[in-house]
Amino acid sequence: MADTTHGALAPTYHPLPIMIARAHGTHVWDTDGNEFLDFLSGYSALNFGHLHQGLVAAAMTQLRQVTLTSRAFDHDRLEEFAQRLVEVVGPLTTGGEDSVVVPMNTGAEAVETAIKAVRKWGYDVRGVPEDEATVIVADGNFHGRTTTLVGLSDNPTTRDGFGPFAPGFRRVPFGDLDAVAEAVDDTTVAVLMEPVQGEAGVLVPPDEFWPGLRELTTTQDIALVADEIQSGLGRTGTTLACELWDVRPDLACLGKALGGGIVPVSAVVGKPEILGVLTPGTHGSTFGGNPLACAVGIAALDLLSTGQYQARAAESGKVLRERLDALVGRELLTEARTVGLWAGIDLAPELGTGRELCEALLERGVLAKDTRTGAVRLSPPLSIVQPELEMALDILEESLVAL
Ligand code: PLP
Repeated sequence: MADTTHGALAPTYHPLPIMIARAHGTHVWDTDGNEFLDFLSGYSALNFGHLHQGLVAAAMTQLRQVTLTSRAFDHDRLEEFAQRLVEVVGPLTTGGEDSVVVPMNTGAEAVETAIKAVRKWGYDVRGVPEDEATVIVADGNFHGRTTTLVGLSDNPTTRDGFGPFAPGFRRVPFGDLDAVAEAVDDTTVAVLMEPVQGEAGVLVPPDEFWPGLRELTTTQDIALVADEIQSGLGRTGTTLACELWDVRPDLACLGKALGGGIVPVSAVVGKPEILGVLTPGTHGSTFGGNPLACAVGIAALDLLSTGQYQARAAESGKVLRERLDALVGRELLTEARTVGLWAGIDLAPELGTGRELCEALLERGVLAKDTRTGAVRLSPPLSIVQPELEMALDILEESLVAL
């Protein structure tokens, strides 16, 4: 196995023992030239695969024009990016005005942006007394690593040792509509949740949850914020995962695949009434909405605009589901949760840990990563073809049997 000791790096990660040197499409090669199928896809940042030709071409063209202006000056790709994002995401508020966009870089920044916007909207528009706004979040959430966002987590590894945390959040069980309703009071400005919890092991809430959230938040004039950073942009077979339940949030946080695995690109898209409270000087980012990010973002949105990737995720997802259900049937897995081309699988405990399964997969040429619950997430590029998918699932079966 390759030596992955990193002398000068702080120990914030425990990577699997592989040293990647090259990648293309669904494939990755290590420094010794060994080939692997990528079943993590950069936590869904590589939905279009590695080095997608159209995305690379868009980046190369922009690299020769202008890469950074800061928001002190406009540039000729910014409005185009925002328009394209609004179009591809589609109308968020039924009968409302067109959505608007705040461009940022990382997922965590997008979520922070949404929190700032809903708080200010709460004070300026809803009349919530200053500094009293509350946001309802879910147990098991993962929204990012900033000091505010780790304070929302109930995972000790993510959270412990990083307090004191920002006040103004209430956590309730994920998927429990009654608990959300009970947590609401006059200070509640938003419900912020992932439609499907990726880092919690691909947890899909009951079908009535998101429609119920929509109804509750609409009747109580509360903003519904969907963190679609991992679930959005094709992974679930739809552009936004919320569409699985015919729900349109007021704000959607997007990231990861928006940058095509080439540059960090994130954004909050949604209701002008809410995002419009972020007036000049109240929010910003040196790199947010830079020309290179916009050029790659536009190209990524073009790929999504045909619906082809969403359709492929839905189609390949059927194969994934069937094959994983068979492994549950053979008691090699205790549970397999699939939505689109995305799965969280729980191993029979006597077989070993999620990490051990990932190591066994790696030895056989498949890259996957356990989540913090021990479940292993499977999220290949949406461009994967059926023979590759079947091959990786054969390897999964073989690895489980060999554990
Ligand atoms: N929100 C969700 C749902 C995520 O899955 C992630 C990252 O995994 C984030 C936010 C944070 O994104 P980033 O790592 O780009 O800050």
